[in-house]
Formats: sequence, structure tokens, C-alpha cells
Amino acid sequence: MSKFVIENRIWDKEESLPRGELKALQSAKLRETVERVQNVPFYKEVFSRTGITPGKIQSLDDLQRLPFTTKADLRAEYPLRMLAVDRAEVARYHGSSGTTGKPTMVAYTQNDLKTWANLCARFLTGGGLLPQHTVQIAFGYGLFTGGFGLHYGVEHAGASVIPAAAGNTPKQIMLMMDMQVDALVCTPSYALNISEFIIQNDIPRNALNLKYAHFGGEPWTEDMRTRIEDEMGILCFNNYGLSEVIGPGVSGECAVRDGMHISEDAFIVECINPETLEPIAPGEEGELVFTSLCKEAMPIIRYRTRDIASLNPEPCACGRTTVRMSRITGRSDDMLIIKGVNVYPSQVEQALLRVKGTAPHYQIVVERPDRKDVATVKVEMTEESFSSSMKEMQELKDKIGRAIQGITGLRMNIELVSPNSLERFIGKAQRVVDHRKIV
Ligand code: ADP
Ligand code: ZN
Repeated sequence: MSKFVIENRIWDKEESLPRGELKALQSAKLRETVERVQNVPFYKEVFSRTGITPGKIQSLDDLQRLPFTTKADLRAEYPLRMLAVDRAEVARYHGSSGTTGKPTMVAYTQNDLKTWANLCARFLTGGGLLPQHTVQIAFGYGLFTGGFGLHYGVEHAGASVIPAAAGNTPKQIMLMMDMQVDALVCTPSYALNISEFIIQNDIPRNALNLKYAHFGGEPWTEDMRTRIEDEMGILCFNNYGLSEVIGPGVSGECAVRDGMHISEDAFIVECINPETLEPIAPGEEGELVFTSLCKEAMPIIRYRTRDIASLNPEPCACGRTTVRMSRITGRSDDMLIIKGVNVYPSQVEQALLRVKGTAPHYQIVVERPDRKDVATVKVEMTEESFSSSMKEMQELKDKIGRAIQGITGLRMNIELVSPNSLERFIGKAQRVVDHRKIV
């Protein structure tokens, strides 16, 4: 466990407004947003099709009368037909990383960039950032929103950035040691690679001054957090965002680390049943839907994220009044349906992390050779288990199979592979190879 204790600090007053004030602020900003989207042909058409006049959308309840916006809608308007301002007013473009296909371009005005930096400064501060800290950003810099988003957030909070970008793990570690870096920002799967390299090369923990890390960009589990924290002796914080909504900065954990606070002055969040589209009660899992309240270049209304999580409106011990979202347990579109059972890659990961003798590097291969789904999980062994007897290896396979079945309810084939043989990812990990889609 880490020896660090993070001070509870709140970046700005919007994080802890009384709920009534927050609601009033949201309603006022919603009215502005509804006006602004009249510049977007897609939304203008939505209003005329539904017969709703913009002036009729006054409150959060009214918002629910408007239809959802989906990724398919954004793709159809590719690249820039969702712009609500002239191109001359755009200061920056980014694109979604295209985990699920063709990238979606997003745009920011100068004001949007300021808003974004402030939102990132918020969650970074909630998770320990102090102005005297040095932060290494090992996210991709480029179309992906992670690198630049966090970069400006750190600077806005008054701290200093090392824009290391993703990849070249030995150099990352050298920089962390030589520059006595306080905090690391990257995807959780890349952090796992960094940690593995440190252990394999017997780099003493005290050669690093790392205290905490902010991970986001992909789903991860509580077990993964414990593992990285134990291995690296740091505290790990979760943060969430997506390019269509703004990028990182939608939500992040505070010192309490019991859910990620959503910046509700900037976004209205809803949680819906992805099939019936009905609202889901607090505490229950559903698909998150966001409406932007501050964005100028590309405002978005009721965007269906496909991300599955639950919302917790209970007040938090940190003093923030904003609603908290749980970890993302999966995406309704990366959800695998194997033999009719819904499975998330994160469930397999959770199972693996509970079995000693395996490294948390895995790949799920799904095939349908004879009209029947067959799932195989390739799991890397640790050096130790790799040198064990055939009998011990068989026992290990059985154990993994049982752990996965316990969590997913499915029997999967287990294939043990040698240490370091599976592909390593410097950005978002690709855990699933689904051959069923190709046929
Ligand atoms: P793409 O949808 O192309 O991957 P982005 O690069 O904007 O586009 O990635 C956003 C997505 O990444 C989110 O919708 C979510 O699925 C995932 N994500 C981001 N942060 C987290 C997090 N902390 N936990 C789980 N998933 C996350
Ligand atoms: Zn809190």
C-alpha cells in the first residue's frame, strides 16, 4: 500500500454549490446551449421534426423531451457539420481514438480550451495535484484528447508538465527518476507495463519519487488499482471523459475515491436503460448520457456514450456536491455476447487478477466454428509459473477457468502463453479479437 495521503482540496466553487443553485445554473446554461445548437443543421432539423421550439426547453425535465444524439449521428455529420461556430472561431481540432471505427472529429474555440483546462485542473486537484508538483504525461499527444487535455489541465493548475507522450518505457522511467516526477498520467494498461518494466529490471522503488497517478481512457478494475498501487507504492486515481463530450475532465475521483465527481456545471448527466431508453434509478447500472452546457464549438445534446456505469447523488465526504459516477463496467457496444451471455472484458480481467501465477496481460479470442460460440482466453504466465510442471500448469488453467466462470457464468478455454508474449499497448489496450464479425 502507498504511504501517501492526499490532502482534500477543492479547485473551484462550482464543485460544491448547493444543489438548488447548481440546478438553476444548469437550467440557465441549458437554455443558452439550446439557442446555440440552432446553428447546427442536425439539431435545427431535430427541433423542426419534433415540433419543439427552442424556447420550450427551460429545465432539465424539458431536456428529456429531446431525442438522443448517437455516435452514428456524429459519423453522418463527419467531419465538421456539427460545428455551431464559424471555422474561423475554432482554435483546435481533435478526434476520437476510433476504438469503435472511423474517428469523429471534434472542435474547440479558445473559450472551450479554457473550460477544458479548468475541468482537468479540477479533477487533478481533487486527486492530489499541487502547484509544486511535476507531472509526466504518458498519454498519446495527437488527435486523441488525453495528452493535450491533461497537459493544459496540469499547467492551468499551476503545476509543471513533462510531455513524455506514450511509449518508450525505459525512457519514461529514466525521466521519472531523473526529474523526480511526482505524478504519472496515462492509461491503466500502460501503467501496468511501466510497473512490469520497473520490477523486471530491479529498479529500486526509492529511485522514483512518484506519489500518485491519474488513469483514464479505458476501463479498468479495482483489483487492477490495488495491483498497481502495491507494485509501485503510489495512489491511483480514476478519471473519465470522451472526446465527443469534451475529452478528459468530464469526471474524476476525489481523495475519498468512491466514485468520480461529474462536473455538473458543465454537463448534465442521465443514466438510461440502453434497450428501453427509460431513465435508470440512482445506484443502478445503465448507459450514461451527457448534454454539454459550456461548449461553444460543438455543443452536444443527450449524447449516448455507450458507457455503462451507475450514478450516486449522495453527498460526498470531500465537500463536493456533484453527483458521482461509478467505474465504467463496459461499453454497451464493446460488450461481448458469448452464447447469449453478456460479457465485458473487464470481468475476465477481474477474474485473472484473482488467480496467482498469471500476469494481467490477456486476450479474449471469440470464434464460431460450428454455429457455436467458442471463447478462448490467452493468459500470460508469470516467470515463476512458466517454470512449473505440466501438472501445475493444468491446475493453473483449471483455476483460471473456474474464476472466469464464477464471474461471467461462462466456460471459456484457457490458453497459457509464455511471459511477455502478448502484445503490449502504450495507449488503449485491445483485449478482444472477435472472429465472428469477420464472416
Ligand atoms: P473512442 O470512443 O474512440 O475510444 P475516446 O478516445 O474519446 O474515443 O475515448 C472515450 C472512451 O474511453 C469512453 O467513452 C470510455 O468508453 C473510455 N474511457 C475513458 N475513460 C475511462 C475510464 N476512466 N474508465 C473506463 N473507460 C474510460
Ligand atoms: Zn468526493
